[in-house]
Amino acid sequence: MMEKKAFVTKEMIEEIVKTYPTPFHIYDEKGIRENAKALKEAFAWNKGYKEFFAVKATPNPFLIDILREYGCGCDCSSLTELMLSHAMGLKGEDIMFSSNDTPASEFAYAAEIGATINLDDFTHIAFLEETIGYLPKTLSCRYNPGGYFSISNSIMDNPGDAKYGFTTEQLFEGFRILKAKGVENFGIHAFLASNTVTNEYYPTLARTLFELAVKLQKETGAHITFINLSGGIGVPYRPDQEPNDIKVIGEGVRKVYEEVLVPAGMGDVAIYTELGRFMLAPYGHLVTKVIHEKHTHKEYLGVDACAVNLMRPAMYGAYHHITVLGKENEPCDHKYDVTGSLCENNDKFAVDRMLPKVEIGDYLAIHEAGAHGYSMGYNYNGKLKSAELLLKEDGSVQLIRRAETPKDYFATFDGFEIYKKLGF
Ligand SMILES: *Cc1c(COP(=O)(O)O)cnc(C)c1O
Repeated sequence: MMEKKAFVTKEMIEEIVKTYPTPFHIYDEKGIRENAKALKEAFAWNKGYKEFFAVKATPNPFLIDILREYGCGCDCSSLTELMLSHAMGLKGEDIMFSSNDTPASEFAYAAEIGATINLDDFTHIAFLEETIGYLPKTLSCRYNPGGYFSISNSIMDNPGDAKYGFTTEQLFEGFRILKAKGVENFGIHAFLASNTVTNEYYPTLARTLFELAVKLQKETGAHITFINLSGGIGVPYRPDQEPNDIKVIGEGVRKVYEEVLVPAGMGDVAIYTELGRFMLAPYGHLVTKVIHEKHTHKEYLGVDACAVNLMRPAMYGAYHHITVLGKENEPCDHKYDVTGSLCENNDKFAVDRMLPKVEIGDYLAIHEAGAHGYSMGYNYNGKLKSAELLLKEDGSVQLIRRAETPKDYFATFDGFEIYKKLGF
């Protein structure tokens, strides 16, 4: 079993809460940098390699700016993510727009800022052309082979049940149409399994896409310039899971590249990735304080965070490891449900979790909250979104997003008197 250690201590948190009360998300700059560097090195063999960070995982410009130092661009799924990337000064070629069920206005904005558009559906070829009046010289299409996605006989995920992408037939037909309409550079994209904790996912996906690319280029004459392996490299949420080794993954993809693409004369194809979870999840904690203990039919710990700060346990029953700060070395001999305050019985960060004996006032670090954590947040029960802090390499702490206030919450009631009544 891997020991899961928090990157903050009780003493650090006691200092931080003097300025920034709990709950908050805190990110570890050192960990983010080391991981981004390791990813870059793992794919350095590919000349055109680029990671487009999946902005939806953690849409914070301070964190994205750190990733940019390692050559990362942005992968956007919506208008506001495109706007954020553009406002941060990213150039068009550094922005990927991988959305689905896309509104016309978002295609128009993506085209205007020169982002690379990754089409999710065959019908979007005509939709895009009608919307912007032309087709960009570079376009990508998302592929969905259907069926199950398996690695050595074990089913990883079920693309046949997923709403995304072109079928194989549609992809060949789509490339022919796009080529006839003057598109010059083609990309292929696929996201066939989520949160994989195996070094085999990318190499297996790469083989499917590389073989497809060779056929597509041969049969349609389309010039394929990049293959986007998208997201899906996971993180070990549970202490008994073995973390992925990005170096092994990069090597695995290189082998398939040399076996399939190079002999087909396609040794100039750039590899792109759109990782979100892998880039940031382990380097973020949700820090929350125990404010109540409740002894009824079960033992409950009530904390000052709730599902609006981290939705994955409520939404997917996802496991997130919890460290009771200051009690790292005590035996986990008490069983608790760790709950938030929403009027929803699924608002539990953990169910039947073995922890050390917890007291009111203890701080909990909830692990792997650095991606798909803050960003999934919402305002149910009128709860406000928490602050985001950055633990810098020099040990200092920077506020990188303030907590919401009631004023933010009421800001969309244009014309209603509530602002005046509340004295804002
Ligand atoms: C969500 C998403 C990603 C990132 O997924 P992770 O699991 O965070 O790596 C990448 N690409 C697309 C199109 C996505 O929707």
